[in-house]
Amino acid sequence: MTEAAATLRTNLVPGAYRGVAVASFDGPLQPAELTRHFLGREAYRRTRFIVVRNGDDTAIVEIHKESDQPLFAPISALSLLAGPAECAYVEDPEVDTAVPTALARTALTRAPGKRGVVVQGRYGHVSFIVDPRPLRVTVREASPPYPAKLLDQAHRVLELAEELPPIELVPDVMDLAEQASHAPDTSLLLPCRGGGVTVDGVSVDYLDERPERRQWTLIGCERSQQIHEWFYGERAPQVDICPRKRAGGTGAILAKCCLLETHIETDDTQVVVPWGASLAQITDALAALADEWEPSWAPA
Ligand SMILES: [Zn+2]
Repeated sequence: MTEAAATLRTNLVPGAYRGVAVASFDGPLQPAELTRHFLGREAYRRTRFIVVRNGDDTAIVEIHKESDQPLFAPISALSLLAGPAECAYVEDPEVDTAVPTALARTALTRAPGKRGVVVQGRYGHVSFIVDPRPLRVTVREASPPYPAKLLDQAHRVLELAEELPPIELVPDVMDLAEQASHAPDTSLLLPCRGGGVTVDGVSVDYLDERPERRQWTLIGCERSQQIHEWFYGERAPQVDICPRKRAGGTGAILAKCCLLETHIETDDTQVVVPWGASLAQITDALAALADEWEPSWAPA
Protein backbone atom coordinates (compact mmCIF):
# COMPACT_ATOMS: atom_id res chain seq x y z
CA MET A 1 0.00 0.00 0.00
CA THR A 2 1.34 3.41 -0.92
CA GLU A 3 0.70 6.57 1.05
CA ALA A 4 2.06 9.41 -1.07
CA ALA A 5 -0.13 8.98 -4.12
CA ALA A 6 -2.30 12.03 -3.49
CA THR A 7 0.31 14.56 -2.45
CA LEU A 8 0.77 15.94 -5.97
CA ARG A 9 -2.95 16.13 -6.71
CA THR A 10 -4.68 19.10 -5.13
CA ASN A 11 -8.45 19.40 -5.25
CA LEU A 12 -8.80 15.64 -5.68
CA VAL A 13 -12.49 14.77 -5.93
CA PRO A 14 -14.14 11.62 -7.27
CA GLY A 15 -15.76 11.89 -10.68
CA ALA A 16 -19.51 11.69 -10.99
CA TYR A 17 -19.41 8.12 -12.25
CA ARG A 18 -16.92 6.90 -9.69
CA GLY A 19 -18.59 5.27 -6.75
CA VAL A 20 -17.50 6.09 -3.27
CA ALA A 21 -18.20 3.19 -0.95
CA VAL A 22 -18.47 3.64 2.77
CA ALA A 23 -17.27 0.82 5.04
CA SER A 24 -16.74 0.44 8.73
CA PHE A 25 -13.69 -1.37 10.02
CA ASP A 26 -13.12 -2.36 13.61
CA GLY A 27 -9.38 -1.82 13.61
CA PRO A 28 -6.69 0.81 13.22
CA LEU A 29 -7.12 2.79 9.99
CA GLN A 30 -3.49 2.28 9.04
CA PRO A 31 -1.98 0.99 5.80
CA ALA A 32 -1.03 -2.48 6.98
CA GLU A 33 -4.33 -3.19 8.71
CA LEU A 34 -6.42 -1.72 5.90
CA THR A 35 -4.52 -3.75 3.31
CA ARG A 36 -4.97 -6.94 5.30
CA HIS A 37 -8.68 -6.24 5.62
CA PHE A 38 -9.53 -5.15 2.07
CA LEU A 39 -7.07 -6.89 -0.24
CA GLY A 40 -8.82 -9.63 -2.20
CA ARG A 41 -12.31 -8.54 -1.14
CA GLU A 42 -14.77 -7.96 -3.93
CA ALA A 43 -15.63 -4.40 -4.86
CA TYR A 44 -18.38 -3.13 -7.15
CA ARG A 45 -17.41 -2.32 -10.74
CA ARG A 46 -17.69 1.45 -10.34
CA THR A 47 -16.20 1.66 -6.87
CA ARG A 48 -12.83 3.38 -6.89
CA PHE A 49 -12.66 4.85 -3.40
CA ILE A 50 -13.62 3.61 0.05
CA VAL A 51 -14.32 5.90 2.97
CA VAL A 52 -13.44 3.75 5.97
CA ARG A 53 -14.80 4.62 9.38
CA ASN A 54 -14.03 3.39 12.86
CA GLY A 55 -15.96 5.38 15.44
CA ASP A 56 -14.88 9.00 14.95
CA ASP A 57 -11.88 8.01 12.85
CA THR A 58 -12.08 8.30 9.07
CA ALA A 59 -9.70 7.32 6.28
CA ILE A 60 -9.95 7.71 2.51
CA VAL A 61 -8.64 4.81 0.48
CA GLU A 62 -8.21 4.48 -3.27
CA ILE A 63 -8.61 0.96 -4.56
CA HIS A 64 -7.53 -0.82 -7.71
CA LYS A 65 -9.05 -3.92 -9.25
CA GLU A 66 -7.69 -6.24 -11.86
CA SER A 67 -10.65 -5.46 -14.07
CA ASP A 68 -13.56 -3.04 -14.14
CA GLN A 69 -15.53 -5.31 -16.49
CA PRO A 70 -17.33 -7.75 -14.19
CA LEU A 71 -19.96 -6.43 -11.79
CA PHE A 72 -17.66 -7.22 -8.87
CA ALA A 73 -13.91 -7.89 -8.84
CA PRO A 74 -11.34 -8.50 -6.13
CA ILE A 75 -9.37 -5.51 -4.84
CA SER A 76 -5.80 -5.91 -6.04
CA ALA A 77 -4.14 -2.85 -4.53
CA LEU A 78 -4.92 0.01 -2.16
CA SER A 79 -3.47 3.43 -1.47
CA LEU A 80 -4.23 5.61 1.52
CA LEU A 81 -5.22 9.10 0.36
CA ALA A 82 -5.78 10.50 3.86
CA GLY A 83 -5.36 8.73 7.20
CA PRO A 84 -7.36 9.35 10.38
CA ALA A 85 -5.03 12.05 11.74
CA GLU A 86 -5.57 14.25 8.69
CA CYS A 87 -9.13 13.33 7.79
CA ALA A 88 -12.53 14.68 8.88
CA TYR A 89 -16.10 13.53 8.34
CA VAL A 90 -18.66 16.33 7.95
CA GLU A 91 -22.44 15.90 7.78
CA ASP A 92 -24.28 18.75 6.07
CA PRO A 93 -27.54 18.01 4.21
CA GLU A 94 -27.32 21.37 2.40
CA VAL A 95 -24.17 20.46 0.46
CA ASP A 96 -24.43 18.99 -3.05
CA THR A 97 -21.42 16.70 -2.98
CA ALA A 98 -21.33 16.45 -6.79
CA VAL A 99 -20.18 20.08 -6.94
CA PRO A 100 -16.41 20.47 -6.34
CA THR A 101 -16.72 24.11 -5.24
CA ALA A 102 -19.26 23.09 -2.60
CA LEU A 103 -17.00 20.29 -1.38
CA ALA A 104 -14.00 22.62 -1.09
CA ARG A 105 -15.95 25.34 0.68
CA THR A 106 -17.37 22.84 3.15
CA ALA A 107 -13.92 21.38 3.77
CA LEU A 108 -12.27 24.75 4.35
CA THR A 109 -15.01 26.13 6.60
CA ARG A 110 -16.04 23.02 8.53
CA ALA A 111 -12.71 21.20 8.81
CA PRO A 112 -9.95 23.75 8.25
CA GLY A 113 -6.47 22.28 8.26
CA LYS A 114 -7.60 18.77 7.37
CA ARG A 115 -6.13 17.34 4.16
CA GLY A 116 -8.95 14.96 3.49
CA VAL A 117 -12.57 15.88 4.17
CA VAL A 118 -15.46 13.50 3.64
CA VAL A 119 -18.84 15.18 3.25
CA GLN A 120 -22.17 13.45 3.75
CA GLY A 121 -24.44 15.90 2.00
CA ARG A 122 -27.71 16.28 0.14
CA TYR A 123 -29.62 13.04 -0.52
CA GLY A 124 -27.28 11.41 1.99
CA HIS A 125 -24.62 11.12 -0.71
CA VAL A 126 -21.04 10.77 0.43
CA SER A 127 -18.07 12.24 -1.38
CA PHE A 128 -14.76 13.81 -0.41
CA ILE A 129 -12.01 16.21 -1.32
CA VAL A 130 -8.29 15.82 -0.67
CA ASP A 131 -6.02 18.85 -0.44
CA PRO A 132 -8.66 21.51 -1.14
CA ARG A 133 -7.07 24.56 -2.73
CA PRO A 134 -9.73 26.41 -4.75
CA LEU A 135 -8.74 28.47 -7.77
CA ARG A 136 -9.13 32.11 -6.72
CA VAL A 137 -10.98 34.14 -9.36
CA THR A 138 -11.18 37.90 -8.93
CA VAL A 139 -14.53 39.22 -10.13
CA ARG A 140 -14.27 42.76 -11.47
CA GLU A 141 -17.38 44.79 -11.77
CA ALA A 142 -19.35 47.84 -10.82
CA SER A 143 -22.32 48.20 -8.47
CA PRO A 144 -25.24 49.06 -7.99
CA PRO A 145 -27.29 47.03 -8.55
CA TYR A 146 -26.99 45.32 -5.19
CA PRO A 147 -25.97 42.59 -4.96
CA ALA A 148 -23.37 43.19 -7.65
CA LYS A 149 -24.82 41.26 -10.57
CA LEU A 150 -21.85 39.45 -12.12
CA LEU A 151 -20.53 38.41 -8.72
CA ASP A 152 -23.95 37.14 -7.69
CA GLN A 153 -24.42 35.28 -10.99
CA ALA A 154 -20.97 33.67 -10.70
CA HIS A 155 -21.85 32.47 -7.19
CA ARG A 156 -25.09 30.98 -8.56
CA VAL A 157 -23.23 29.23 -11.39
CA LEU A 158 -20.76 27.72 -8.94
CA GLU A 159 -23.60 26.34 -6.82
CA LEU A 160 -24.34 23.96 -9.72
CA ALA A 161 -20.93 23.62 -11.38
CA GLU A 162 -20.30 19.88 -11.42
CA GLU A 163 -17.67 20.12 -14.16
CA LEU A 164 -15.52 22.95 -12.80
CA PRO A 165 -12.67 22.64 -10.31
CA PRO A 166 -13.19 24.23 -6.90
CA ILE A 167 -13.32 28.00 -7.35
CA GLU A 168 -13.33 30.79 -4.78
CA LEU A 169 -14.59 34.19 -5.91
CA VAL A 170 -12.73 37.31 -4.78
CA PRO A 171 -14.86 40.45 -5.23
CA ASP A 172 -13.34 43.57 -6.79
CA VAL A 173 -16.43 45.75 -7.03
CA MET A 174 -16.31 49.44 -7.86
CA ASP A 175 -19.04 51.31 -6.00
CA LEU A 176 -20.59 53.93 -8.28
CA ALA A 177 -21.93 55.99 -5.40
CA GLU A 178 -18.40 56.27 -4.06
CA GLN A 179 -17.04 57.22 -7.47
CA ALA A 180 -19.77 59.82 -7.75
CA SER A 181 -18.93 61.31 -4.36
CA HIS A 182 -15.30 61.83 -5.48
CA ALA A 183 -16.17 63.34 -8.85
CA PRO A 184 -15.03 66.95 -9.32
CA ASP A 185 -18.35 68.15 -10.73
CA THR A 186 -21.49 69.02 -8.78
CA SER A 187 -23.52 67.70 -11.67
CA LEU A 188 -23.27 64.04 -12.60
CA LEU A 189 -24.60 61.85 -15.37
CA LEU A 190 -25.17 58.16 -14.64
CA PRO A 191 -26.01 55.50 -17.24
CA CYS A 192 -29.44 54.68 -15.83
CA ARG A 193 -31.75 55.28 -12.92
CA GLY A 194 -32.03 51.58 -12.16
CA GLY A 195 -29.04 51.60 -9.87
CA GLY A 196 -30.49 54.28 -7.65
CA VAL A 197 -27.25 56.13 -6.91
CA THR A 198 -27.81 59.35 -5.00
CA VAL A 199 -25.15 61.73 -3.75
CA ASP A 200 -25.79 64.52 -1.24
CA GLY A 201 -25.44 68.00 -2.68
CA VAL A 202 -24.99 66.73 -6.21
CA SER A 203 -27.52 66.81 -9.02
CA VAL A 204 -27.77 63.52 -10.85
CA ASP A 205 -29.16 62.93 -14.33
CA TYR A 206 -29.61 59.61 -16.08
CA LEU A 207 -28.43 59.05 -19.62
CA ASP A 208 -31.16 56.54 -20.48
CA GLU A 209 -33.74 59.32 -19.93
CA ARG A 210 -31.96 61.50 -22.53
CA PRO A 211 -32.02 64.58 -20.28
CA GLU A 212 -31.41 68.13 -21.47
CA ARG A 213 -27.68 68.70 -21.89
CA ARG A 214 -25.88 70.16 -18.90
CA GLN A 215 -22.28 70.52 -17.84
CA TRP A 216 -21.79 67.22 -16.08
CA THR A 217 -19.32 64.44 -15.47
CA LEU A 218 -20.29 61.06 -16.86
CA ILE A 219 -19.86 58.20 -14.40
CA GLY A 220 -20.03 55.42 -16.93
CA CYS A 221 -18.40 53.21 -19.48
CA GLU A 222 -17.27 53.71 -23.05
CA ARG A 223 -20.65 52.58 -24.37
CA SER A 224 -22.32 55.32 -22.31
CA GLN A 225 -19.81 57.79 -23.72
CA GLN A 226 -20.75 56.69 -27.25
CA ILE A 227 -24.44 57.15 -26.45
CA HIS A 228 -23.62 60.59 -25.03
CA GLU A 229 -21.90 61.52 -28.26
CA TRP A 230 -24.90 60.29 -30.24
CA PHE A 231 -27.33 62.34 -28.12
CA TYR A 232 -25.32 65.55 -27.69
CA GLY A 233 -22.72 65.54 -30.45
CA GLU A 234 -19.73 65.46 -28.10
CA ARG A 235 -18.06 63.40 -25.44
CA ALA A 236 -18.36 64.32 -21.75
CA PRO A 237 -15.75 64.52 -18.99
CA GLN A 238 -15.82 60.97 -17.67
CA VAL A 239 -15.00 58.66 -14.82
CA ASP A 240 -14.61 55.38 -16.72
CA ILE A 241 -16.10 52.52 -14.73
CA CYS A 242 -15.50 49.71 -17.24
CA PRO A 243 -14.23 46.74 -15.17
CA ARG A 244 -12.23 45.45 -18.13
CA LYS A 245 -9.95 48.47 -18.03
CA ARG A 246 -9.31 48.40 -14.30
CA ALA A 247 -5.60 48.17 -13.71
CA GLY A 248 -3.62 45.87 -11.48
CA GLY A 249 -4.33 42.50 -9.99
CA THR A 250 -2.80 39.13 -10.63
CA GLY A 251 -4.14 35.66 -11.16
CA ALA A 252 -7.41 34.66 -12.75
CA ILE A 253 -9.84 37.52 -13.38
CA LEU A 254 -13.46 37.52 -14.51
CA ALA A 255 -14.55 40.93 -15.77
CA LYS A 256 -17.37 42.44 -17.78
CA CYS A 257 -17.25 45.07 -20.49
CA CYS A 258 -19.80 47.54 -21.75
CA LEU A 259 -18.68 47.08 -25.36
CA LEU A 260 -19.22 43.31 -25.58
CA GLU A 261 -22.69 42.37 -26.69
CA THR A 262 -22.85 38.75 -27.69
CA HIS A 263 -19.62 36.89 -26.93
CA ILE A 264 -16.90 36.46 -24.33
CA GLU A 265 -13.26 37.42 -24.89
CA THR A 266 -9.97 36.50 -23.29
CA ASP A 267 -7.36 39.14 -22.49
CA ASP A 268 -4.07 38.38 -20.81
CA THR A 269 -5.18 37.06 -17.46
CA GLN A 270 -8.84 37.91 -17.65
CA VAL A 271 -11.90 36.54 -19.34
CA VAL A 272 -14.42 39.22 -20.20
CA VAL A 273 -18.17 38.74 -20.53
CA PRO A 274 -20.81 41.17 -21.85
CA TRP A 275 -22.38 43.63 -19.41
CA GLY A 276 -25.62 41.66 -19.52
CA ALA A 277 -24.01 38.20 -19.56
CA SER A 278 -26.17 35.11 -19.26
CA LEU A 279 -25.48 32.37 -16.73
CA ALA A 280 -24.37 30.17 -19.65
CA GLN A 281 -21.79 32.77 -20.72
CA ILE A 282 -20.52 33.06 -17.17
CA THR A 283 -20.25 29.28 -17.00
CA ASP A 284 -18.18 29.34 -20.21
CA ALA A 285 -15.99 32.12 -18.83
CA LEU A 286 -15.28 30.27 -15.59
CA ALA A 287 -14.51 27.13 -17.61
CA ALA A 288 -12.04 29.11 -19.75
CA LEU A 289 -10.33 30.42 -16.61
CA ALA A 290 -10.18 26.90 -15.18
CA ASP A 291 -8.62 25.60 -18.42
CA GLU A 292 -6.02 28.35 -18.27
CA TRP A 293 -5.15 28.18 -14.58
CA GLU A 294 -5.88 24.56 -13.63
CA PRO A 295 -5.24 22.77 -16.95
CA SER A 296 -4.55 19.37 -15.43
CA TRP A 297 -7.50 19.29 -13.01
CA ALA A 298 -10.10 16.60 -13.63
CA PRO A 299 -12.26 14.53 -11.35
CA ALA A 300 -10.43 11.33 -10.31
ZN1 LIG B 1 -15.95 48.11 -21.36
